[in-house]
Amino acid sequence: MNYMDYIDRGSKIKSCPKCGGTIIVSRLYMYSLNSCIGKRGKLLKKAKYCDDGPIDTMLASCENYYMKCDVHWNADEFIIDDESCFIDYKYSDRSDDI
Ligand SMILES: [Zn+2]
Repeated sequence: MNYMDYIDRGSKIKSCPKCGGTIIVSRLYMYSLNSCIGKRGKLLKKAKYCDDGPIDTMLASCENYYMKCDVHWNADEFIIDDESCFIDYKYSDRSDDI
């Protein structure tokens, strides 16, 4: 499904569709712990964290997830549109109406 289909099907929402809580969007980043192979041919204990940058994946959930609400979105169940608005199409899927 392409980007425009998401826009057409989803709904712009500002808070959790179930409990009204704040929606938390998590951008996943990739970090590595890098160590060198030393002069003796062994992996050195000394290591350095490297930020490998965003991996282009976002997840979202209700602030009350794990407590009283089970609302959450996987990467392909919502998007952030050009105006930084949250477009939900998991809970607001209107394809049944057609
Ligand atoms: Zn909620």
